[in-house]
Amino acid sequence: MKKRTLSTLVVVIFLFGIFGNFSSRLNATSESTIRTYNIVGQGVGTLIRGLIQGKVKSVKSAAKMLFWGSLSGYGFYESKKMIGEGLVTKGIILANISASITENTARGDNPFAYLGYTLGPARIQVATPLAGKDKTLFNVQISPMDAIGFAIAMSRADSVSFRNGMISFEANEAFTGNARGWALGIYPTVVTGVPEHVFYHESIHVVQYIQTMSVSPQPLNCLLDRGIEGKKLFNISLLNFNFAAILNGFTLNDKNPNVEIWNEIEAYALAKE
Ligand SMILES: [Zn+2]
Repeated sequence: MKKRTLSTLVVVIFLFGIFGNFSSRLNATSESTIRTYNIVGQGVGTLIRGLIQGKVKSVKSAAKMLFWGSLSGYGFYESKKMIGEGLVTKGIILANISASITENTARGDNPFAYLGYTLGPARIQVATPLAGKDKTLFNVQISPMDAIGFAIAMSRADSVSFRNGMISFEANEAFTGNARGWALGIYPTVVTGVPEHVFYHESIHVVQYIQTMSVSPQPLNCLLDRGIEGKKLFNISLLNFNFAAILNGFTLNDKNPNVEIWNEIEAYALAKE
């Protein structure tokens, strides 16, 4: 088996373990378990992304990815906890900084080389002085799936607004019988008049999506785009895909919730009713 095929297999099994049904035994999950999963999962995820993208050159660079990836995972945990407590804007900003640390480290750069922000289908990354001289100043990565997601979320909602740093939707009627809210990728939707914690819950799903995107390797961008290497002012890549989102791309907040999958266990534990 080729090294790259093996790495891809490992990442799929790993992500399934973290976000898939594998976690169904953890129904009574404590916050410390959630924190551990975030730290370990993001650390290993960052290393695997780095491996697949050919950026692990030595034991030292592998250790660096594990360390900074774990720190990023802690940031994601804190971000979701903040949102669960109602500090949604702060949580979304922290999630974006955490994602930046993973993206930068997995690319073999300084952990703070770029600061990124996900807005709709676009992830906008701006170089900091730590990026070095031969880097593009502004980098925009477009996710085609999230462009389509916008249209789908729109078709199911009655209004759209910029709320707490996200493009958010509100619907007059439930998606299905009991659903009070739902998240489609980076778009949260709540039914008009539901309690605030439903919005917090959906916002936590948005953070989970940003998190899985940060550990998703981008082979299409690598092939078709020169990326951010080279001293340019602006770069745009159009083929960002969230491979891990196959497992967490769409979730409903139901009165009879399915708390057997990891992303629901986490969202229900951190955004309490
Ligand atoms: Zn949910």
